[in-house]
Amino acid sequence: MPAGEPEISASIQTIKGVGPQLAKVLGKKGIKTIEDALYFLPRTYEDRSRLTPIRDLAMGQTATVLGKVVSSTMTPGRGRQRRFSAVVTDGTGMMSLTWFNAYPSLVAEFAKDAKFLIHGEVRFFGGMASISHPDYEKVVQTPEGKPVATVNFGRVVPVYSETEGLHQKTVRRLMREVLKVSLHQLVDPLPDDMRSRLRLPDLKHSFSTLHFPSFLPAEGESTDAIQRIIFEEFFVLQLGLGLKKRKRQRERAPPLCDPKGFRVQFIKALPFGLTGDQEKANIQIGTDLAKGQAMARLLQGDVGAGKTVVALAAACASAGSGYQTAIMAPTEILAGQHFRTAEQFLAPLGIGVELVTQASAAKADVRSRVAEGKVSVVIGTHALFQKQLSFAKLGLVVVDEQHRFGVDQRNELVRKGDGLVPHLLMMTATPIPRTLSLTLYGDLDLTILREKPTGRKPILTTVVRDKDRPRLFQEIRRTVERGEQVYIIYPLVEASEKLELKNATEQHDKLRKEVFPEFSIALLHGRMKADEKDRILSEFKEGKYQILVSTTVIEVGIDVANATLMVIEHPERLGLSQLHQLRGRVGRGAAASRCLLVAENYVGQRLRVMEQTEDGFVIAEEDLKIRGPGEFLGTRQSGLPGFRVGHILRDADLLTKAREEAELILEKDPDLSAPQHASIRAMVESRWRDKIERLRGG
Ligand code: ADP
Ligand code: MG
Repeated sequence: MPAGEPEISASIQTIKGVGPQLAKVLGKKGIKTIEDALYFLPRTYEDRSRLTPIRDLAMGQTATVLGKVVSSTMTPGRGRQRRFSAVVTDGTGMMSLTWFNAYPSLVAEFAKDAKFLIHGEVRFFGGMASISHPDYEKVVQTPEGKPVATVNFGRVVPVYSETEGLHQKTVRRLMREVLKVSLHQLVDPLPDDMRSRLRLPDLKHSFSTLHFPSFLPAEGESTDAIQRIIFEEFFVLQLGLGLKKRKRQRERAPPLCDPKGFRVQFIKALPFGLTGDQEKANIQIGTDLAKGQAMARLLQGDVGAGKTVVALAAACASAGSGYQTAIMAPTEILAGQHFRTAEQFLAPLGIGVELVTQASAAKADVRSRVAEGKVSVVIGTHALFQKQLSFAKLGLVVVDEQHRFGVDQRNELVRKGDGLVPHLLMMTATPIPRTLSLTLYGDLDLTILREKPTGRKPILTTVVRDKDRPRLFQEIRRTVERGEQVYIIYPLVEASEKLELKNATEQHDKLRKEVFPEFSIALLHGRMKADEKDRILSEFKEGKYQILVSTTVIEVGIDVANATLMVIEHPERLGLSQLHQLRGRVGRGAAASRCLLVAENYVGQRLRVMEQTEDGFVIAEEDLKIRGPGEFLGTRQSGLPGFRVGHILRDADLLTKAREEAELILEKDPDLSAPQHASIRAMVESRWRDKIERLRGG
């Protein structure tokens, strides 16, 4: 590297011609370093390698012309009226160039006899070819009078995504500089043998052909160069996840072998037999827990799949080994629900259960019961990881609806076990498509409950139209008259939460006063205090209300067996996975259940998916396809952060391949300490340090 040349991790401002102003604009495009710029790939390309003689120009054609200025005029005025036009010739004919709202400097630039390369879309006016607002560049000639190829002409030219204040010419010039200083110092992190086996070009070649290709890539074709960049992105992620997993596997945890046999006793005492998947999960988890290695497992299962039982079985194994379990739920209602289930089944085995709420966490007697190990299973919300609460012997942490918690919160609890780390079981009711779970949870072991408990009636889902409201009301009435209960959901839109709250409140009023004055109807929404929400939900569960009008706050985990009808207003506002979660609130008892989606007018194919399947995984795949990974995850980004080029759906094959290759390498070199892996390791560290964590949390 020549002395004084910036490294690729250096600020983009170290590139010639990039001052603070341009750096700021580039920053908006995510370009902060030289490396960022390398990965800022062209959106498309234009073939400007061939010149078209003016006499051959055709209407609508996008052409490159070499022309000499014959004459020009500036029409004075304001805005669009201020027009500059120049006539140029190439010896075969004449054409005009036009600018509206023109810069006065054009007059001097387009002086008579100056030569320009011109590119743009051709129109004809009064028989003369013309280009408005052409791309142009003053011609630099060789001594023989031939135009010199520039970054903008005489070649296939990259076209980048633009923002205000950032023009193609600027980006192209920047890229040429970036390649000039960085290409020769790029160390290809992919081992040669892997690259040749997978037929992927090396990094230098990839970047130089991506930014300045010699040939125009075929429309829509994914070139080797781009495949390579995408593969590398995925590969680095998979290595990061693999390293993390291996690191965790080295952490020691107490072996929970359950000598007292609590787990078996618990399962025997259940009023139902386990599903095959629940049984398999129990065995997998039981095996993990018995090892002295920290378990890190994600239990994925659709709503109603019966995850709680699996979690409690694990808690029994922990208690049967003399260790405590912390079960963390996202809301107090859910914590309460888990607590009651746990008490019902665990107390008879002599396992002490404690509910820790925001209020009780501060109480001395509660704290001492936990600290002295008098209770084995402690259930609560994030109140569980308050500093004052310390566990005597924490052996297992269960996190229900894990996506509701930030990573920091989860880690906090994991760190509470003294010396040894507790085992970790995370649970989620959001089925995650395989491609996405490979990306997000590649460092966790995965258990899936796909099978639903038997005897559960399907939830018949129908999309109805707003004009069918009389029939809808009739359905509600019939349901209530059968002694069953109804949910009516009004989704909130974040942007207009107030308005929508008004909507839910008004509907509640209207239903209560006008439509169903004879029924008792409760209202539930996110602005209520936690204890008020709790009260209403428990009263609904006790049957005090026949209808519960609610915003989407009831999305997670509520179990009211007698509720058999769910009406969802404005289903178009929600993702399919979310609709599916909501729908899972019914169909929890023995009676047949229905879900009615009240679409305002046009019913797209999207909602039909809800009528066709109850398989959360199928729905999740659809949802991911429609909304893309960013929205699916509820992150604000449009794609996954960290993937500059790759797309986990479109490039699923590369993702799988990257996963396999990462595993192959880690099998041989589990912490990437071999000298030939030094550059990969550096790359993994710099790129993925906390991106995965940030992505998953919250
Ligand atoms: P989720 O996976 O959504 O958390 P839950 O654990 O709340 O589901 O279980 C939903 C309901 O199904 C609970 O009432 C639970 O007691 C019941 N359940 C769980 N497993 C079985 C089973 N194998 N057979 C019958 N009912 C079951
Ligand atoms: Mg649950």
